[in-house]
Amino acid sequence: MGIRTPDLLIANETLYQLSYTPTGFRMADLEQARRVVKAAFTPEIVPRCGLACVEVVAPLQPPRMSLTEPIVFAPLFMERVWGGRRLESLFGKSLPPGRPVGESWELVDRTDCQSVVADGPLRGTTLHELWTTRRGEIFGNGLPDTPRFPLLFKLLDCEDRLSLQVHPPPAVAERFSGEPKTEMWFIFRTSGESSVFAGLKRGVTRAQFTEALERGEVAALVHRMPTRAGDAIFIPNGRLHAIGEGNMIFEVQQNSDTTYRVFDWNRLGLDGKPRQLHIAESLASIDFDDAEPQLAEPQGETVVACEYFRVERWAIAGVRACGTAERFAVITVLEGDVECAGRRFTPGTSFLVPAASSADLRGTATVLRTTI
Ligand SMILES: [Zn+2]
Repeated sequence: MGIRTPDLLIANETLYQLSYTPTGFRMADLEQARRVVKAAFTPEIVPRCGLACVEVVAPLQPPRMSLTEPIVFAPLFMERVWGGRRLESLFGKSLPPGRPVGESWELVDRTDCQSVVADGPLRGTTLHELWTTRRGEIFGNGLPDTPRFPLLFKLLDCEDRLSLQVHPPPAVAERFSGEPKTEMWFIFRTSGESSVFAGLKRGVTRAQFTEALERGEVAALVHRMPTRAGDAIFIPNGRLHAIGEGNMIFEVQQNSDTTYRVFDWNRLGLDGKPRQLHIAESLASIDFDDAEPQLAEPQGETVVACEYFRVERWAIAGVRACGTAERFAVITVLEGDVECAGRRFTPGTSFLVPAASSADLRGTATVLRTTI
């Protein structure tokens, strides 16, 4: 009898952890559940279980009421040689003047880079502190027990083309003292005829790729796809990839900063020298069976779902409940205006709705909703 992931339910101001048994229906357990959670139990939970029974495992800490509001982190801007100024011109972010900014790290918990809450009662608190001291109420239960918040959220303004690169699968990462990374891109905006590179052209072998690399002619072997706003691409570890010029991208990835650059299009860096490549690491990481992958095909509202994250695209017209009393959600506004607990959010902004929140999203807007 399989047990699905524990679920949570708030009733009578107490948070309960539930476990589902999809193949059985045990009256004793159901009666017990009903007694504990009373009327709140039936309409919300039973339809989601199908024939399942529900066991109340244990009452957990009651949610703290101060955590019903969305949490907004200050973005961290990264100067990049391929970056531009559109984070400011399109989204009104206050960039440092006169420099090409390629990345805005919206949520990050790393030793060398840390998101900090921008305002409200938690102002000044780091994402790492929230993850380590208030995980259940903010992020939910049953999440991976990692020392750091397992996802990293970025906006990328790619004025120029990025290098051709790959992120390692877990075994390769371990060998080279890196961290594995799987990521997804959602194309926010494009300018002109934009494209991305992902995977190899059909039939290209490791030997052909290695030879072409030595001659500086690898570009002809990489699979290229045109992009339009609203497209999404899944980049599992091992997939060769590069973002083409003109794309403005929302990126969700595993919390990792390991990138192996395999080819830089025969360009020179700002210092007039070629940028460093990581050939051995790249060749060990690239999945040479990954021929001509396609854009992600959304299933209903789900844009990409994998073992590390789940990204949905929601069209909001009016009011829609956002929290599930179960898991955090990071909301990123794509178009329109969204109000959440009395605060207004515009395109290009992200905020975290705590697991314990019952806040609604209001307005006429399109958003991405990311959780684990
Ligand atoms: Zn990447």
